[in-house]
Amino acid sequence: MTQTAENWTTPSVLEAALRCRCPRCGQGRLYCNILEVRARCEHCDLDLAGSDSGDGATALVILVLGAIIVALAFWTEFRFAPPLWLHAIIWPLVTIPLAVVLIRPTKAALIAIQYRHRATEMGL
Ligand SMILES: [Zn+2]
Repeated sequence: MTQTAENWTTPSVLEAALRCRCPRCGQGRLYCNILEVRARCEHCDLDLAGSDSGDGATALVILVLGAIIVALAFWTEFRFAPPLWLHAIIWPLVTIPLAVVLIRPTKAALIAIQYRHRATEMGL
């Protein structure tokens, strides 16, 4: 359902990212499946086809999460000195679920930031 501009409040980037919602109205769902962005917002009809963050979210999650995990691994090694096989079990079990959980809101944040700063290129 399309509504006029007066009927929605633009969410903050953080709110749009955490809820994985449209960067303009904050109501429509951003994704139509796991990571595929909808062509248009189901609520405000914003054209989302041009808002492709590419590999930006993946790169950001890899860099930030990787740095945190490596720091934690070093801290664990120097503090507790566990055997290497325990590192090999612990860190993938921590890293992979966190990466999966973080990728959707990170991509939504990048799309919201892109919307905020390049709104004219998205057909507005
Ligand atoms: Zn919308």
